[in-house]
Amino acid sequence: MTAPQHSARRRESGNLIHKLASATIALLVALLMLPNLVWLAHGADAPNWLAALVLPLGLLVAWFAVLGRAPWLACLLLAPFALLAPLEAFYVAQYHQPTSAQIIATIVATNPLEAREYFGWWLLPLALALLAGLALALLAAWSSWRARLGWSRAGRSAAACLGVLAILVPLGIGYARSGTPRATASASASSPLHQFGDAIQRGYPAGVIPRIVTWHREWTRMRSEAARFQSFHFGAHRTGSPLGRRQVYVLVIGESSRRANWQLFGYRRPTNPGLSQLTNLVPLPRFITSWPESIAAIPMILTRRKPAMAWDAPWHEASILRAMQEAGYETWWISNQQAIGEFDSPVSMYAYEAEHVEWLNHASWTAPGSYDGDLLRPLEDALDASHHDLFIVLHMMGSHVKYDYRYPKRFTRWQPTQLSPPGQGTLVERARNSYDDSILYSDHVLTEVIDVLKRSGAVSALWFESDHGEVIPTATCDKEGHGVGTVPEYEIPAFFWYSDAYARHFPARVSEVRANAGKRTLSGDTFESLIDMVGVTFPGHDESWSLFSPEWRYHTRWVAQTRHIDFDTARIGAGCQRVLPSGGQSRVSAQPLRNGVLR
Ligand SMILES: [Zn+2]
Repeated sequence: MTAPQHSARRRESGNLIHKLASATIALLVALLMLPNLVWLAHGADAPNWLAALVLPLGLLVAWFAVLGRAPWLACLLLAPFALLAPLEAFYVAQYHQPTSAQIIATIVATNPLEAREYFGWWLLPLALALLAGLALALLAAWSSWRARLGWSRAGRSAAACLGVLAILVPLGIGYARSGTPRATASASASSPLHQFGDAIQRGYPAGVIPRIVTWHREWTRMRSEAARFQSFHFGAHRTGSPLGRRQVYVLVIGESSRRANWQLFGYRRPTNPGLSQLTNLVPLPRFITSWPESIAAIPMILTRRKPAMAWDAPWHEASILRAMQEAGYETWWISNQQAIGEFDSPVSMYAYEAEHVEWLNHASWTAPGSYDGDLLRPLEDALDASHHDLFIVLHMMGSHVKYDYRYPKRFTRWQPTQLSPPGQGTLVERARNSYDDSILYSDHVLTEVIDVLKRSGAVSALWFESDHGEVIPTATCDKEGHGVGTVPEYEIPAFFWYSDAYARHFPARVSEVRANAGKRTLSGDTFESLIDMVGVTFPGHDESWSLFSPEWRYHTRWVAQTRHIDFDTARIGAGCQRVLPSGGQSRVSAQPLRNGVLR
């Protein structure tokens, strides 16, 4: 072969490598933009265009401009994001929004078995897609290195300017808009810089970095809180002799469920077709919570924290899970809520006192999907995982706003709902219908949970209570949500269910709880009641708070505790039924009025 032939061959192969490098870089950018494009396909309004297209594209252009002299390095550093892009795109296709720090927490805490159940037959194609994404990034890096690809100085400067412009113009527009009074009038308006940061965080791939940082910070904080009670001991043990049969007990914590909309407690609509058929069920028709938001209400259920304490007072005892474990119950916390977040982390701290913790929610609070029925399979798995006695906590999404996101379509019994086209029905009717549909679905899930227990053949019982209730709009009240301090936020549904075998073994417990059921009870009774429900005791066990004991007695039912109102003598405001101190002037504005934002 002659020398010119040689160099022609080399030029040819050089050209080929050059073409390969350009093509793979273009494909890589397309892959990285894929999650954004899927998101855009599901909601193409103005803020989405910015977060899903303008900013991510601008950042990618700026990225390649900055590393323009070594595109191979730019590709190599993008490899982890190329690997994850198919997963993110899969997520967005399902839930119509990007992942978040909370979703990352759920995913990281997921074990392989749960992942297999969640993805089903998608698992293999998805795994292959992830590997293909990684391979593409590596090929782009290798070929651009081989081709000695570089970007001319002028081209780099122009691209950098374009990228910076794409990033800065929206921020400028945000600031210009925030100057007009219309934008600042909205209660939810935050600073343009904050909104801008939020938009970046929702885009792919750059947004993944702040999401991971937030996840790590929140998760570490939550786990270190959880470790505080590691050395605490109740000295709890079983009462009575061993049964020789397996015992399984379940505590179900509901969410934003108000008693007034339960057929079981006299509501006119048939919202409890399942539970109202059960004979071994003891409704607690006067049960209340002391707090209208989860973050303060749930510690009242799980600990011996007494009502007079402020909600943020540091607590010095572990939760019911520790007592159960000391007494020989294997403990589980299976949650359809989220592991981290402003309102979630303080609850998750208790979850980690359980020996087994599972997070099932992949949908977030603001998207449909991850219905409470998802709790059933993990519950069955927990029962099958051992032959031990079990104490299981199930944490529901229940009826949290938006109500229509909490139930599958086939449970749309009352219409029009809040999701129906505008013009159908009044706002009041739509809210009530959506809310009732969510209760109907909760009834279905609770009935199924009880079915699982029945089928298990164990000596079993279940305690249900909602964390707090909910105010929904009426003709005289336009509030929706909780954290307001109205009667329907304090009046929660609660009941006790027991298996036939439980009734045979513990007839006294059943008759005691039946005798106490109609009394003026509260969520502060839960801890000591559960202790007796499962046949445990410990030094200092106070039966005056136990509905399973003849010693139970009435305790003043303080609510709205920063204001110390006795629920049983309170004045009820007109309109929204706000709970007000008896006598004296009403101080309507003393409580923060936040709608639908608290859990
Ligand atoms: Zn709540």
